[in-house]
Amino acid sequence: MRKASGNGILGVSTIDAGPGRDPVGSTAPGALEWVDASEDPPEGMTEPRIIPRAEHPISRGYIDPDALKVLYRLHRSGFKAYLVGGSVRDLLTGRTPKDFDIGTDARPQDVRRLFRNCRVIGRRFRLAHVLFDGGKLVEVSTFRRRPEPEEAEPGQGGDVDLLIRSDNTFGTPAEDAVRRDFTINGLFYDISNFAVIDYVGGVEDLERHLVRTIGEPEIRFREDPVRMMRACEFAARLGFEMTPAVRAAIDENRREIRKSAAPRVTEELLDPLRRGWGAATYRLWSETGLLGEIFPDLDREVGGKAGANGLFWRMLAETDRRRAGGEVLSDASLLGVVFLPLLFSAIRTRSGGKVDAQKLLLLLEEVVNPSSVRLSLPNAAIHDLKQGLFTMGRLAELGPGDAAARRLVTKGYFPVAVGLLSLYAAASGRYRDAAFAWEEVLRRGGRTPRPGEDIRAAIPFPEALVPHETHDPNEVFLPDDVRATSRPAHRRRRRRSSGGGHPGEAA
Ligand code: ATP
Ligand code: MG
Repeated sequence: MRKASGNGILGVSTIDAGPGRDPVGSTAPGALEWVDASEDPPEGMTEPRIIPRAEHPISRGYIDPDALKVLYRLHRSGFKAYLVGGSVRDLLTGRTPKDFDIGTDARPQDVRRLFRNCRVIGRRFRLAHVLFDGGKLVEVSTFRRRPEPEEAEPGQGGDVDLLIRSDNTFGTPAEDAVRRDFTINGLFYDISNFAVIDYVGGVEDLERHLVRTIGEPEIRFREDPVRMMRACEFAARLGFEMTPAVRAAIDENRREIRKSAAPRVTEELLDPLRRGWGAATYRLWSETGLLGEIFPDLDREVGGKAGANGLFWRMLAETDRRRAGGEVLSDASLLGVVFLPLLFSAIRTRSGGKVDAQKLLLLLEEVVNPSSVRLSLPNAAIHDLKQGLFTMGRLAELGPGDAAARRLVTKGYFPVAVGLLSLYAAASGRYRDAAFAWEEVLRRGGRTPRPGEDIRAAIPFPEALVPHETHDPNEVFLPDDVRATSRPAHRRRRRRSSGGGHPGEAA
């Protein structure tokens, strides 16, 4: 990953706010009118700021070679060909882009004619995907514009409903820039002259570490409430500030998020966890009140005063740390982290802090079902999530050598349970031995130790780091005041061997 110069993207240490712009952090909400709220490209901004190659750090060496091929072929065929969106933002700040999206004035059919390895997707707004070896695809979209006001439908109660339901009209590059969400996401890189084209003031905001909507935040958030979640996510992942107007607009409009399609909201909930900036993002969602709208059950447990439910926040931080180290956790494990505080709370409040297998299964249904319906989680993830949470407790209590545990390793949800136990152990300092032993089983491809074999003997790990005592059999995996009914290990084993399936399977 390259680092941006400490003097800002263009090598300038301070930048004047410029006419009509807010000095950072000192402007009252509502005064951020530099990019105005009209439907058309803002006055004075139809002429973009052009930053020539010599004055910005984007080199073709940092651009994916296949994306470069697409850019060049479009350009040689007489079309405009720009890198757009997140890739320009990331390249300008020395980050590695996730993908390299391309904007062009070529129509999807033109793009298809130019590339044999191309398919046009989408029913309403058609995008071209150019496919390369290894399943890589480069997305090429024709410049489009925001919908006309008459395309929006009036809402109930006399309030104008700005929610965008279609987004399917071709436009100019300027229109394409201003239909984007944030100024830092509205930049173009032009392959014809290697210049950065800035219609929206995005370069300045990148330098000043600001997340600012293009146009008035109130309107942009009502058009698409998911943008409020994205504002927080960009602030969290980049270490930027949201402008005061963005903060104020989230404050005013956070309830609007309920109008957004559940699968989109769920994608936004998972994305920061998958990518390693979950803790900071969830913190901002909670602080801004968005989490309380999206996932009230979770916010009740972990929101509010900083540090409430420290275990949850430590588990998120641990998840991020592992992601930064290259570990990839399944969605079910990530959801497990999110649902664990709900489960612990249910055990405390609805089960007097004690729980046996049957009760645990019941509580899992009660805790997971309502939220998973609201968030329209996929069934497979829900199944693995429940089984993973259930089994996590069993793994904490059973060692890998335990006969009752052997069948678990073949289950699809076994890695989910191990991942959760491991995150829990790292965050709480408890059950580290059990977590470590089960992780080792996972690393060995599910091979459990032979009877009598001490798994630690096969683990290259300093003896002193592995406590001699595993855990007290009367101790349980639940934290703090939560206590499960825990039978001593020998009694449990005898009961298992007398037949009966693993209770988790009934879930
Ligand atoms: P990431 O690294 O997470 O992919 P990104 O900026 O590329 O960041 P995407 O979700 O891939 O984010 O979106 C690509 C671009 O499309 C954005 O940079 C932005 O310009 C535009 N965009 C995405 N979502 C919206 C939205 N809800 N409203 C307006 N523009 C959007
Ligand atoms: Mg992207």
